[in-house]
Amino acid sequence: MLKQLEQIRKDALAELENTQIQDELHQWRSKNLGNKSPLMGVFTEMRDLSKEERPKVGKLANEVRQALEAALEQKQAALKLAALQSSLDTEKLDVTLPGRTISRGRLHPVTQTLRRIYAIFAEMGFQVYRSREVESDDYNFTFLNMPAHHPARDMWDTFYTDKEGVILRTHTSPGQIHAMREYHPDPIRVILPGMCFRYEQVSTRAEMQFTQVEGLAVGYNITFGDLKGTLTDFARRLFDADVRTRFRASHFPFTEPSAEMDVECFICGGEGCSVCKQTGWLEILGSGMVHPNVLRYGGYDPEEYSGYAFGMGPERITMLLHQIEDIRYFWRNDLRFLEQF
Ligand SMILES: [Zn+2]
Repeated sequence: MLKQLEQIRKDALAELENTQIQDELHQWRSKNLGNKSPLMGVFTEMRDLSKEERPKVGKLANEVRQALEAALEQKQAALKLAALQSSLDTEKLDVTLPGRTISRGRLHPVTQTLRRIYAIFAEMGFQVYRSREVESDDYNFTFLNMPAHHPARDMWDTFYTDKEGVILRTHTSPGQIHAMREYHPDPIRVILPGMCFRYEQVSTRAEMQFTQVEGLAVGYNITFGDLKGTLTDFARRLFDADVRTRFRASHFPFTEPSAEMDVECFICGGEGCSVCKQTGWLEILGSGMVHPNVLRYGGYDPEEYSGYAFGMGPERITMLLHQIEDIRYFWRNDLRFLEQF
């Protein structure tokens, strides 16, 4: 039996020597080390041996097994190396070939404007407050001092849903009520950015969906002077440190008094051009002191608290900054347009 083991070792190693392909190693393994291999047969037959013979045969059988396993491992490593070497020899790497460029995404021009606006107001201590795009009629109108059937509601062409009293918000102003109801009676300083929806005839100046950034400050002793100072500073940070601003009296149902802010046309410097329609001024935002009724709906006593609010359209500001003539470019997903920013 010892002789038989030596023969097994000799045959197996010789066969392994001739194997040149990785796949054949598996076959060799099952043939020479598998359960049905001659070597394993010896282990089975050992049971019938005498007590003196058994340790000798067992010792050699283990040696043979270890030798075969070691040889297999060596052969595997050798074949792997050979395969690598041959692939290095045959497949030449051309290091002069230019790399594949990764096409990187970029931020949408309106998102870029939004982030500039966030950054400016963040420096002034305003936090971003987000609220829902699907609103109730109450939040969108009633709590903003526009009761049912109030004619002021006609200023917003509204998308209604099948569900009574559920609409797509026409402006970010409902967020004012959400913020006030969440924070009262604490002071508030937030901006409310987000998407709004209006049932509009789409044109070069009007879209059905657009973003707005609303601002709201509520607290003690907040005056119109605070409103003017904050917004003038904002305009200087966004457009130019020397830009002039002016406030024109206006009307919004949810502020009293109300004003629109213009900045001096940064294209013509106030001389008059086609962008500012020869006026020298560009309308940027609407603003005003929060109406007492709105404060009340938000949970603040207007005898004690006051506040100001403002709202602007980042698309419009982006159009002014880059002299874009058609608002429809923003949602057209035309790369020739988007790649310019
Ligand atoms: Zn101009």
